[in-house]
Amino acid sequence: MHPPNFNGIYFTYRGAEGRCAHLCRYCSIGAMRDSAPDFDRYAKLVSRVYDWAREYRHKYEIGTALMDRNYEPHLDDEKEMLTTRLGGEKNKGVTTGGLRLRTDGELSELLDYWIGRGVNTIHSSFGGIGDTHDYYNRRVGDYLQLMSLQRLASIKRMNIGQSIFVTKRTIFQIDRLEEVLNDIGSPIYRNIYPFGFLGLAKNLEIERIEEPEREALLSARKNTLLRPDTWISERE
Ligand code: SF4
Repeated sequence: MHPPNFNGIYFTYRGAEGRCAHLCRYCSIGAMRDSAPDFDRYAKLVSRVYDWAREYRHKYEIGTALMDRNYEPHLDDEKEMLTTRLGGEKNKGVTTGGLRLRTDGELSELLDYWIGRGVNTIHSSFGGIGDTHDYYNRRVGDYLQLMSLQRLASIKRMNIGQSIFVTKRTIFQIDRLEEVLNDIGSPIYRNIYPFGFLGLAKNLEIERIEEPEREALLSARKNTLLRPDTWISERE
């Protein structure tokens, strides 16, 4: 058993209408609740951790993210000001997984809205290509929407970031998926990793790659970025 090794902590607040637009099979949050924690309690908790880190001169990275209105990254003035006052950075990056489906025109408008609020980076997670991604995402059309968002963001000169999940279904699709993503533009980061052992993803044991597949993947990708760089199975 390896000792825990972490260098930061991230607090995400999901507001009263903070239900995601869908429910991915790999969602690390799990079943969504209708209710939400009180924002003042969230702010007090984050504030306490900031004070504690300052007092003990910890170098941990402390991040905050605010999600609201059907899991759309709603950049609310009041909450952003509070986050900034707590020492957090103004939201410059948003994730695009839980958005309701939109036309390309609507996606373009959404990106313009975010740009107007100071956002410069969007992040998308891919569970394979096309139908495979949509299967994991439990929503037909999700893959195409994420691709449109990445493409439009790249055209608007935003930074794009990507995660690719490795499973027994997706492992043979990764090269092709990377080709498609490379055609869109250069991401500022691209992480390739298995699902977390959290939430609904705990139900996907049978889809997880095992040690021989991990070894094959790692040796085929000696020069590419895999995050985390150490993949240890439960047996190890
Ligand atoms: S988009 Fe994210 S939060 Fe929403 S269900 Fe999928 S993994 Fe969970």
